[in-house]
Parts: sequence; structure tokens; C-alpha cells
Amino acid sequence: MPQRPSLNTPRTIEKMRDYLRSMYGANPVVVSGPCSAESEGQVLETAHALSALGVKVFRAGLWKPRTHPGGFEGVGTVGLPWLQRVKRETGMLIATEVATPQHVELALEGGIDIFWIGARTTANPFAVQQIADALHGHDVPVLIKNPMSPDVELWIGAMQRLQESGITRIGAVHRGFTPTTEQDLYRNTPHWDIAIELKRRYPTLCILCDPSHIAGKRELVGTLSRQAISMGFDGLFIEAHCSPEKALSDARQQLTPSELSCLMTQLHPRHGDAVGAELEQLRQRIDECDRELVNLLARRMAVVREIGQYKQAHQVPVVQASRFDAVLRRAIELARSEGMSEAFITAVMHAIHEEAVRQQI
Ligand code: PEP
Ligand code: MN
Repeated sequence: MPQRPSLNTPRTIEKMRDYLRSMYGANPVVVSGPCSAESEGQVLETAHALSALGVKVFRAGLWKPRTHPGGFEGVGTVGLPWLQRVKRETGMLIATEVATPQHVELALEGGIDIFWIGARTTANPFAVQQIADALHGHDVPVLIKNPMSPDVELWIGAMQRLQESGITRIGAVHRGFTPTTEQDLYRNTPHWDIAIELKRRYPTLCILCDPSHIAGKRELVGTLSRQAISMGFDGLFIEAHCSPEKALSDARQQLTPSELSCLMTQLHPRHGDAVGAELEQLRQRIDECDRELVNLLARRMAVVREIGQYKQAHQVPVVQASRFDAVLRRAIELARSEGMSEAFITAVMHAIHEEAVRQQI
């Protein structure tokens, strides 16, 4: 994978982690609150309940990006004093989404501690640049959600824009990506590989997981949260509401504070990179498997090239859809009997086929 210009100075990136860790200590970072601030009562009731659980950063959307006009578009600046009250009464820090320079200005004036950039905004470099420009000279912490499409470069690009504007506490929030099939289990497909790639490039970047927007339904939020924490995410960015069923936005995916409390007891963060001898041995076996895998693929490609020569000599088209269909079906059957998913083997076989076609033309 080509290396593009990076988010430089690892120290800058690490600052967000240190900042959040200083609040949570050994406990997992849990940023929580309702999807939207709806009323002073709802905000305060939710905030007090979350504060009692040890949540240190309270999230609530004031300006809500909605797919269709006419939905609940947030209470706007009316909600700022409610969040200030949360801060005064509970000591929690307050976080909200900003999508325009005007939001930035109002949020700065309103004493918002942590800003986040939503998925729809991250997808638009012009909008991100305007926000970055508006934040210039105000070194507030900013969390950047992934863009709607699974494009790690766009995500990194947004963080670079913030960094170039002088923001030194930058974190990422993985909230899943627009699904490509109707029957997706999730509201937004996790594509964990994209978040893992971000972590591979920037091992010290603070990455939170937003299981609420991935799930879209509360039944899946717990499993996703446990998965994220065991994968090594720094924490969760998770929606909670005092009465989720009455929520004006994202009602299906919000947890009650007591559901969140139960979930928090099941999160066991894994710190450090200590590698014991046993893990080292297992990794050596994996490395050996990978060597065999690559050798095997190389042998397969050598046969593919011979086939390519035959096809050329006999004017047979390179792509034979029915042949690939048969190859794929057999691979799915074999993979299934070995406990692998159809989606996985399908993706692998498509990648192999694409390379095989490339080698024949
Ligand atoms: C939110 O956090 O409420 C939100 C609107 O998120 P996203 O930008 O991930 O859709
Ligand atoms: Mn939401």
C-alpha cells in the first residue's frame, strides 16, 4: 500500500490519548450521552445518571445532520446552557458535533470542551477545511468520525487538515460505513479493516469505536463494544438516553444508563504490547502459514500464466464467467466445511481472480 504524506509528529497524535487517559485512568474511555440534546430535563437526567457510572465526557448533538429535511434537526444554541449546566453540576466535560464555521464559533463561545466532526462532514474536504480554519488559534480537542465511505485516506486527510490548523489533540472515531447491501445486519458496516489500517499507520493515534451508529439497534451494541475493546480500541463513543424509546433521533440504538452500566462492567481494556513466549511461538506459526500461502499463490499464478498463453494462442477470451463461477462455488463449499464464512472466501477468491486476469492480459 503506498504511503501518503502522514499525520506527522507522533507526539501530537499521542496527546489525545494522554488527555483522555488522564480522566479515565485504567478504566476504558467511555464518552457517552444522547444522540441529541432535546430538553433541559432530558439532558440533565441523562448526564447525572452517566456521571454516576464514571463517564467523564458527555456527548450531545445540538446541530443534527439529517438525511431528509423535516426531521428533528437539533435544538441548536438553545441547548448550550443545558450542556454548561451539565458541566457545572457533574464536572463532566461536554462534547458536541460541529459541521460549519458558525457551529464552531457558537460552540467555542458556549464553552464546549471537545468537538467532533460527523461522518457526513468528514467526507467533504471543503467543509473540513472550513472547520479547521474556524478552529485556528483555538487548540481544542477534536474527534473525527470516519467518512461514510470506506476511504481511509479521506479520514486521514481530515485529520491532517485539523493538524495543519494547529490542533494538537486529535482522535478518530470509527462509526462504520454506508452498507452496500440492503440486508446488512448493521446500520453501518463495520469494515474493521479500515480502522485497523488506520491503527497500523498511526499506532499511537487515539481511536474510539462508536458501536451505536454501527449497530443501529441496541441489541447489537454490547457485542460490538466488547469486540472493539478486545481489538484494542482506546474506548467507546456511545449513545445513551434517559428514555431511549422517546428519543427524537436514533431511538433504536440508544442505551439506557443502566444498560450502559451493565455493559461497562463487561469491558476489559487491554493495555500494553507485552508479548509472552507462547504468543511469540504462535506468531511464528502464523508467519510460516503466510509464507506457504504466498508460495502457493505464486504457484497458482504460474499456472494461470500458462493458461493465459493457451487462451491467447487459441483466441479464447481471458475471462470465462462460468468457469469462475464454478471455481467460486467449490471454494465456498470447501471453506464452509472448514468453518469459514462465505463472505470471506468470496472476497478472497475475487481478489485472486482479479490478479489472475491481470496476469493474463
Ligand atoms: C452522532 O454521533 O449523533 C452522529 C450524527 O454521528 P455520525 O456522524 O457518525 O452519523
Ligand atoms: Mn446519533
